[in-house]
Amino acid sequence: MTTKDHERGIDLTGVVVLGATGSVGETTLRVLERHSDRFRVVGLAAGKRVKRLAEQIAKWRPLAVSVAREEDAAFLRREFKGVDVYSGPDGPVRLAEHPQAGTVVAAIVGSQGLRSTFRAVELGRRVALANKETLVMAGRLVFEAARRSGAELLPVDSEHCAIFQCLQGENSASVRRLILTASGGALRDFPVEAIPNATVEQVLCHPTWKMGRKITVDSATMMNKGLEIIEAHHLFHVPLDRIEVLLHPQSVVHSMVEFNDGSLIAQMASPDMALPVQFALTYPERISGLLAPLDLAKAPPMTFAEASAGRYPCLALAREAASSSESHAIALNAANEVAVQAFLDGRLRFGDIATLVRSVLDETEPSAPANLEEVLQLDLAARRQAQRRLSQIEE
Ligand code: MG
Repeated sequence: MTTKDHERGIDLTGVVVLGATGSVGETTLRVLERHSDRFRVVGLAAGKRVKRLAEQIAKWRPLAVSVAREEDAAFLRREFKGVDVYSGPDGPVRLAEHPQAGTVVAAIVGSQGLRSTFRAVELGRRVALANKETLVMAGRLVFEAARRSGAELLPVDSEHCAIFQCLQGENSASVRRLILTASGGALRDFPVEAIPNATVEQVLCHPTWKMGRKITVDSATMMNKGLEIIEAHHLFHVPLDRIEVLLHPQSVVHSMVEFNDGSLIAQMASPDMALPVQFALTYPERISGLLAPLDLAKAPPMTFAEASAGRYPCLALAREAASSSESHAIALNAANEVAVQAFLDGRLRFGDIATLVRSVLDETEPSAPANLEEVLQLDLAARRQAQRRLSQIEE
């Protein structure tokens, strides 16, 4: 514990992993295994992958777990006596509230992760934030809550972890621009005219990062980078028009900060989420871990290019939504989640993801929610609107 954490009475060594069976959750457990002398697993939250969760419980013996379905919870209670098992949408919230949860890794994908992440912030935990939707939907409310509780928010998104590192010891007044790098996703070398009809299989074949399905689709549309612009805006308090995107197919430079004097500071590492996860867990310490050293002499030549608006319409949509109002950012995220799921289910063409998001944004009234309940209401309304639009597109 740092002195500051001692003052707040928080023991950071007790870790709750929300989204334990997902890509970031599994990486987190690899990191925790490497550093088992420093951390203990207090809680694990999963959705429907109950077999995988059972393996994790057998290995880690957490105090509490949660799953989506009550029948799965009943099975786990029979298998693991002495482990508190919760189910339903409140389960992850209960884990975030666990008295021994000093560090909460928020890695539940999409808007489902919002309530538990917000609860961890309200309770002053260290929050290792992999769920970017939380900041897109409720960034202002999250930081207001963090100011009240003293919660620390440490980005686990690789770009934001990079920027956070570039800003260490720097004065925020000397920042000119944040530059988020982007791999360009699975379709970056596709002929533009073929993109609208790209198949699920083509889109899920990401060139550098192995991630969950939703974020891999978001990476191909670059909505992921759009959401990351909004995430960076909230995390680093930099205006949207000073956050830029640069295509960098090799994913070696994870992002950069340009300062007023023209100096550009970049963070480089092998593309492995073990680094952002570990950095969030051990900050401000840097310790050796799982990451393979980056051998620049053997690395492929690095290239950088502008991201074309014609190829990636979602990028402009995200910017536009975030500059319009908070309800537009919520609608952007909700409509995108509906559209991506519809694409994965074979109900929507890839090219219509942007069309559907656009039409929902056009019908959104500008507003700023006063609390989390209002955020969730706006989210629900936008989802319903997106479903209606989806049915019209399908006809
Ligand atoms: Mg990222």
